[in-house]
Amino acid sequence: MALRQELAEKIRRTEPYVPGEQPQDKVIKLNTNENPYPPAPGVQEALRTMDADRFRLYPDPGAHMLTKALAGRYGVGEDQVFAGVGSDDVLAMCFLTFFTSGRPVLFPDITYSFYKVWAELYRIPYICPVLDQDFRLVREDYYRENGGIIFPNPNAPTAIYEDLGFVEDILSHNRDSVVIVDEAYIDFAGPSALELINKYDNLIVVQTFSKARSMAGMRIGYAISNPDLIRCLNDIKYSFNSYTMSQAAILCGTEAVKDEAYFQEGIRKIVETREWAKGELRKLGFLFPEAKANFIFARHPKYDAGELFEALKKNNIYVRHWNDGRIGQYLRITVGTEKEMKVLFDFLREYIMK
Ligand SMILES: *Cc1c(COP(=O)(O)O)cnc(C)c1O
Repeated sequence: MALRQELAEKIRRTEPYVPGEQPQDKVIKLNTNENPYPPAPGVQEALRTMDADRFRLYPDPGAHMLTKALAGRYGVGEDQVFAGVGSDDVLAMCFLTFFTSGRPVLFPDITYSFYKVWAELYRIPYICPVLDQDFRLVREDYYRENGGIIFPNPNAPTAIYEDLGFVEDILSHNRDSVVIVDEAYIDFAGPSALELINKYDNLIVVQTFSKARSMAGMRIGYAISNPDLIRCLNDIKYSFNSYTMSQAAILCGTEAVKDEAYFQEGIRKIVETREWAKGELRKLGFLFPEAKANFIFARHPKYDAGELFEALKKNNIYVRHWNDGRIGQYLRITVGTEKEMKVLFDFLREYIMK
């Protein structure tokens, strides 16, 4: 039944973000860029020894145990870290806090599709500069007047990483705008814009525990910036919901940060599998931009991506496909374990030979 007009006009309605499928049966899941390896052993141990009596009390609204661990890990002050319920929560708070001038916010036309959803939800005007034919951001597009800038580095779903020279160029041309660099995949790529935090007071770097730290289900993300911008972000968060992060997330997140060796080894394994997988895809005739994330954005000149996506799914191999203009012939394939990738390649070999 359609909403009555009189009610409908009083309700905020919007086109929601569409997340990748989360099938409940056992499949080869290469569709939402999760990590195929478990979180650090200390996380399991923290869960095992956690006292449920602590759940009687509200958690620390500032999640200080976690922000302190992150500050230590990244060599910044504790007042430079803001933690939230996944980087989606952190980014949504950033949109609400920093993109308020009424001038259009800039983000690429092909990028994380949540940006457009938040802009629409908060009624923030936006302009989406078009990526060039190689899916690269065009720096000059970000020299125009704007109400803020956001882009992921590496970009999603292309997996292309822009070096710090590019990021710094955007920052220096936009001294009077907040520039958010969404570094969900930075650990698989190269130097982080965190190196520029003390040089640019308009920079916010957002990272997540969902990818390299194998904790998508625990929902932890964070922003690092200067104390002034972090204070503004906290003021908005406390005006929205004081207790966003659960006690379990604060504890488990802190344990994960403590185990640097496990973190580095996990990244090494994914990058190694990614580089091997690129070679296998090339042998099969796939084309893709240089992938620097934990996924590869590939197309095959001879096979329709939509049909291939469906064929894979029928065989319980899930990848991501968007039926959408310039990227309609691409599949985004998350890097799983070597064993999972072998199942994928066995299927592709057969699909392409027949
Ligand atoms: C996965 C992802 C996020 C969000 O991850 P959370 O699970 O909410 O931390 C943010 N930005 C990009 C580009 C992503 O791919």
